[in-house]
Amino acid sequence: MGRALGYVGFTGPDRRLDTTGYFDDPVNVLPVKCANCTFPDLDHVPQPYRLARGIDRPVDLAPANLGNFLARDRARRVIEAACPGQCRFHPTTVKKTNDAAPWFLAVPTHHIAIGRVRAEVPRCSACGEPKTCHVNEFEPDPPGAIEWDVAKSLSWGSHNDTIGLERDRAKLRAAYGPRAEIMAADTGWARQRIYRYLFFSLRLELLLKKLKIKGMTRLAGDSGAPTGEDRAWVDEQVDRLNRLGFGSPPGRDGREDQGWFDAYLKKHRKRRGAPHDFGPIEAALGASLPPTYKVFVDQVGAEIFRNVEGEEGFEARILLPQDLDLTSYRQGAVPMDGEEDRQVDAVLFAATGHGDGFCFDLAAGGPEYPVYLYDHEANVFDAYAPNFGGCIRRFIGEDG
Ligand SMILES: [Zn+2]
Repeated sequence: MGRALGYVGFTGPDRRLDTTGYFDDPVNVLPVKCANCTFPDLDHVPQPYRLARGIDRPVDLAPANLGNFLARDRARRVIEAACPGQCRFHPTTVKKTNDAAPWFLAVPTHHIAIGRVRAEVPRCSACGEPKTCHVNEFEPDPPGAIEWDVAKSLSWGSHNDTIGLERDRAKLRAAYGPRAEIMAADTGWARQRIYRYLFFSLRLELLLKKLKIKGMTRLAGDSGAPTGEDRAWVDEQVDRLNRLGFGSPPGRDGREDQGWFDAYLKKHRKRRGAPHDFGPIEAALGASLPPTYKVFVDQVGAEIFRNVEGEEGFEARILLPQDLDLTSYRQGAVPMDGEEDRQVDAVLFAATGHGDGFCFDLAAGGPEYPVYLYDHEANVFDAYAPNFGGCIRRFIGEDG
């Protein structure tokens, strides 16, 4: 990549959502990876991923164990759109009820080496992992810059100290019973409360701040200020995210768009034929078409919008279901230069007279997908509207 981004450690309040009890015992138990020392598989994501407390915390982000974090839907959409492919998002459930929780577990896909465990710390003869990794046993050697906006540390740390270990282990065993990631039954190879660090780029930190996405903050003592280039990226992202409808918290805006769209349909309704059968197309697509598109083609039909946004000669023609292009713009179908563009999984629903086209992005999740304009000359997907209704509104030029 060759990018060099300034970064900070990112954290948040204790009493993490995926922990329980006085000792912040992890709720989700990891499988043992090494039978010899009981070292757990740190990259395994238990499913369902359960949360035990703080579920109503009125923020968008919260720290999670092992260098992961939790994001509510808007924060997830923002991070996915601005930093595509840098986190895997998993649904979560409420431990007590097994109901879906309004949080996604975000697992950074990139690891960065931040130093090494001192040579004198014993290693497991089978897996090579150190016996413990207290702060004092670690020689930090963090990179000056990172290539990604989100990453976690490759190495892990643990809270053990030889004096406290036996006492804590006995306490923990009495309170919670044996748990592999906290203690290795009686082998003496217990690592307590294994953790990893989470890192965000300075530009992502600034973007979240600008969008008022709250709940996490940089590690105390970490310093660094965004560069001019970082600020330019943030401005570009804010503009892009606003067009996709992720820029501001959900609420009034979506309802207002829907009201506008309903009024538009009432005024322009003309089709009297049988409604379209969307079933076979949705089956072929493996996804539902947006409800607003379906009602539009049923009631208005293959409408042509001329002089889109006041641009002379710019024509957009809504395609009927049988004319949708379900294959040409799907993820991986067009070799895209941009990292963000490569993530778009597009279905063309409106053609223009000049080779560009308007697409739904299935990758963003439905039922109403964000709309991109595929610019064939630049080979990019330009963020255009938060949904189909918002797109029609822009075609007509009633943006406000
Ligand atoms: Zn081992």
